[in-house]
Amino acid sequence: MHSMLDMRGLLCLRRTDADGGAMTTNYFGYAGKILFINLSTGEIRKDPLDLADARKFLGGLGINNRLAYDLIKPGLDPLSPGNPVIIGAGPLIGTMVPGASRTIATSKFPLSGAVSAGSGSMTFGFNMKRAGYDHIVITGASEKPVYVYIDDDSVQVLDASGLWGRDNYDAVDQLWKRHGRCSSISIGQAGENLVKFSLALVDKMATIGRAGFGAVMGAKKLKAVLVRGNGGIKVADPKGFMHEVNTLFHRAKSYKLHSAAVAYGILNAGGSFMLGDEGPYGLNIYNKVKKDRIACPSCFIADKDVLVVSEGELGGMKTYTHSFGMVATAAMKGTITDYAKATRIVNMLNRYGLGHQEFDSMFELILEASETKVLREDQIGAVGRNYETMHDLIEKIVFRRGIGDVLAEGWMATASEFGLDTNRFSSHVKGLGTQFDPRERGLGTMEFEQLVNPRGGHHQSGGSPSYNQGAPVEMFERHVDRMGAPPDAVRRIMDSPFGFNVGRFTRYSEDWFAVFDSLGICIRSQNNRFYSADVCARLFSTATGIPVDKEALMEAGERVWNLYRALNWREGFTRKDDTPPPKWFEPLKAAGSEFEMKDYFQTRKLTREDLEQLLNDYYDERGWDPATGCPTREKLTALGLDNIVKDFEARGLL
Ligand code: SF4
Repeated sequence: MHSMLDMRGLLCLRRTDADGGAMTTNYFGYAGKILFINLSTGEIRKDPLDLADARKFLGGLGINNRLAYDLIKPGLDPLSPGNPVIIGAGPLIGTMVPGASRTIATSKFPLSGAVSAGSGSMTFGFNMKRAGYDHIVITGASEKPVYVYIDDDSVQVLDASGLWGRDNYDAVDQLWKRHGRCSSISIGQAGENLVKFSLALVDKMATIGRAGFGAVMGAKKLKAVLVRGNGGIKVADPKGFMHEVNTLFHRAKSYKLHSAAVAYGILNAGGSFMLGDEGPYGLNIYNKVKKDRIACPSCFIADKDVLVVSEGELGGMKTYTHSFGMVATAAMKGTITDYAKATRIVNMLNRYGLGHQEFDSMFELILEASETKVLREDQIGAVGRNYETMHDLIEKIVFRRGIGDVLAEGWMATASEFGLDTNRFSSHVKGLGTQFDPRERGLGTMEFEQLVNPRGGHHQSGGSPSYNQGAPVEMFERHVDRMGAPPDAVRRIMDSPFGFNVGRFTRYSEDWFAVFDSLGICIRSQNNRFYSADVCARLFSTATGIPVDKEALMEAGERVWNLYRALNWREGFTRKDDTPPPKWFEPLKAAGSEFEMKDYFQTRKLTREDLEQLLNDYYDERGWDPATGCPTREKLTALGLDNIVKDFEARGLL
């Protein structure tokens, strides 16, 4: 295991005044500048970061939302030049905070039409901060393929004609040959061909923006953004800051599952993804192709695996993944017994830049529609649960051949083209496929989060102990306290016939994740388990010199999330779009049994009325209007979002 970057010199005391020292503001934690690039006009501008925004929205996701509110006009076509790409790196990125690697990409994503934030790890945010930028905003569109190359102060938009049509790995390798090793956000052919569930890759290894962020870049003819930074980030109180950092590293090293997490990768350490050592998809066979593990800067665990197939007709193939579950999923879905071929499916999705989860769901849709004769062979060709069908479908979607041209448009377009009831064949919320099915493991916070997340059926901001099965109820109480929920909220959450109230709990998970995504800390469970609202507040204060306590920090997280919801309310998303997928209320048939949706502790079957009540509880805990599922005037005012109140009053929304 090794880290991508040498960690020495991270605390170098470089003065980071905006605009080359012409300004007098001293930035701590922040790099101090926002870089604006207009691909239509060629204009490049560097604005100083407004510290009032930093106090209010922290950075990363928070300031991305703040910028998106001004830049994304309601009703905008996600693939039009006006849709910005906003990349944010929070104030703890570029410091030694463990796992401070989370880069946030905000835009209006085409699959759902929601203003969405994708997050990706590795070194992009790290280099971006060291180059002097907290945020990069790319607007407009180029007529010919281009890439952006940022090397500290130098910012260039360069010709990418020779790279267009190349896959992610190939294109980035070419760019690294040209410019030397640096950080990258790139797209493959799926993004170029405007596939609605294309994504981008960070440093060839991490995915970002599964609901069509790749297509947003493709529509701008933007093949890649490269960044190299040689500076450092100054912290306000180095002694206090390092005390917090050292305490975190010490706690992580003495964590009882630390060695398991290092051995198996971060997603597998808790047991939920464990498929055992033996068997066709087990760890033993995975370890034959796994050649290395790579960490983001300052991560104490690491979860990026380098896979190399060493023999057979696919010998020499190299790809990357964050979990052995990715290859196992491809193998199981396609009943592929040749592990090299299953690895190839993952490799194709990575290279082309196609969302794994959305592709899996499309694959299931095609199979089920074929088996039930809703779609005929003359419409979709001969399909089966096998490698050949998976391979063929990926190619068709990415290059928009035949039926692939329809599938590339996502669920809604596929449904309307073939007259399908999407609810019969898929589980999606706001057009984005859900990954966690409550019929399998009960309605935990990640399952519930898929209903209320502003970007659609996304689970990540609902992380909690319910990620693993069998967590004792006391663990939920401790967790909600760790996230900084006030004592009266803890009582409301724990006063539930289901052990805990998943709707009320999820509100605090979202605020907690908003803080992480705004500061730039990795949200993976084996990383975030070492943090508390108190620790985050002390890290933020000692890094930036802006004093906050845990209450103020969590209020900032709440503000960030309310703004996220408001951005999408302005786009027309309301409570009606938080509706649970109808499939959740039908029995799930698997392994010869039927499974019904129950609460996390499997107390009893959940009805539609139960879900409606849990949604009511969620809006109530948020202080939102249960009729619209959106923030009230009082809530927005209390959070200091008076400009939103004025704007929404003018639009007749308040
Ligand atoms: S856990 Fe994985 S994604 Fe998170 S910081 Fe570590 S290597 Fe990066």
